[in-house]
Amino acid sequence: MFKKILVANRGEIALRVIRACRELDIKSVAVYSEADEKSLHLKLADERICIGPAMSAGSYLNIENIINAAKKVGAAAVHPGYGYLAEKKEFAEACENRGIVFIGPTPENLKLAGDKISAKRIMADAGVAVIESSPGSVTNLDNALGICKKIGYPVMIKASGGGGGRGIRICTDEEMLREEFAIAKAEARAAFGNEELYIEKYIANPRHIEFQILADRSGNIAHLGERECTIQRRYQKLIEESPSPGLTAALREAMGETAIRAATAVKYFNAGTVEFLLDLDDNFYFMEINARIQVEHPVTELTTGIDLVKEQIRLSAGGMLDYSYDDLNRRGWAIECRINAEDPERNFLPSPGTVETYTPPGGFGVRLDTHLYQGYELPIYYDSLIAKLISFDLTRQGAISIMKRALSEFVISPLKTTIPLYRRIMDDPSFRKGDFDTGFIHKFVQEEEEDDD
Ligand code: ADP
Ligand code: ADP
Ligand code: MG
Repeated sequence: MFKKILVANRGEIALRVIRACRELDIKSVAVYSEADEKSLHLKLADERICIGPAMSAGSYLNIENIINAAKKVGAAAVHPGYGYLAEKKEFAEACENRGIVFIGPTPENLKLAGDKISAKRIMADAGVAVIESSPGSVTNLDNALGICKKIGYPVMIKASGGGGGRGIRICTDEEMLREEFAIAKAEARAAFGNEELYIEKYIANPRHIEFQILADRSGNIAHLGERECTIQRRYQKLIEESPSPGLTAALREAMGETAIRAATAVKYFNAGTVEFLLDLDDNFYFMEINARIQVEHPVTELTTGIDLVKEQIRLSAGGMLDYSYDDLNRRGWAIECRINAEDPERNFLPSPGTVETYTPPGGFGVRLDTHLYQGYELPIYYDSLIAKLISFDLTRQGAISIMKRALSEFVISPLKTTIPLYRRIMDDPSFRKGDFDTGFIHKFVQEEEEDDD
């Protein structure tokens, strides 16, 4: 096992990894930017090392600085968390070249997962259903118009190198495609350094269902059940749960098997997620592989009892995967709310500032993953995710009641957060019935605004 791990991230996920290291008796090293000198991850780690200025490009995204830091402190391995360098093939390669273990998938896995067009092609060849789309990248408007005529509107334009819900556009007709195509291309270039676009058929009223995968270096692959991530805003997940209220046992089995087939087709290693869209007729389609630990991993942990971050570390150290889904002692229901420092009343405008009053929730069935503390000043440079509140109970109704109660205890003032929105969602009849699609939040917010008028 590794003696020392450098944690190449910040915020709640840095804490998450540091905690796993502590339990495994591995020394942890926190990295930080000049804007993060007062961050909680520095207090919990065994060592700390500054990797550059506030702007992520010079620090959390700076491959050279991070590798030099790992070398300097004598870390045998690096855990990248999510976001930042977690899915950068160049980073995983640079680690390997300098004799450091990258705790995550192989560079080949990252290359493929980061190229959604190629990934879809491989999945189709492996017999995994994919959403009808352009055969490859769509280079110009004429090309796009032709493809959309064939697929039929509405369509979605996506960036092959995209992620985090960014760069996705719906086009309902030819006119809209003409307007959006060039913008999408420029956006993809600016955001991902890759202007390759592809076009997909728009699936009406879908659910987003994903399967957690674990794999060892010998090719043993298991799935750990699904996560329901349908409650989204602008293609970004807000509430996730496991299991999904939308699956029958038969559908779960079929999707789980397909997820393993997808991971096998790319010789996947370590933790990853296979994302699917499920349509109204229970057809499911491969969307992408997320080659990292995900924000919403706790709902899988609570319902399987498996610590995914410890498993990532163990597998990277050469450990074997000797269990499958059927061996798991799966039980209960877990729900996660992503709490963002954003004002839902003002179109989710970021709301940074200093946390003057901080009262975290507790009690039965509550897990809180956060880097907040009283007096903490949120840097303006980073993501607005400030806490993940997760509830667990034997039933879905129980998990909803615990979530509602925990949200009502949670005080983070004077910041504006998404907590009040989640409290109202917990009372929504459709949500409570588990009857929703990816349009839920849009509709919910709109209906609330109409009621206010
Ligand atoms: P990202 O890499 O940004 O996560 P995804 O391809 O995973 O992008 O899609 C993000 C979200 O966009 C999905 O969870 C879903 O809500 C929506 N979406 C993606 N593709 C389609 C589609 N073809 N039809 C309808 N919704 C889609
Ligand atoms: P998950 O499916 O793990 O919840 P998300 O798509 O929400 O992942 O992304 C996790 C984090 O990483 C978020 O904070 C998001 O803003 C960030 N992120 C993901 N992909 C990218 C990307 N390509 N560029 C920048 N940030 C990203
Ligand atoms: Mg996705």
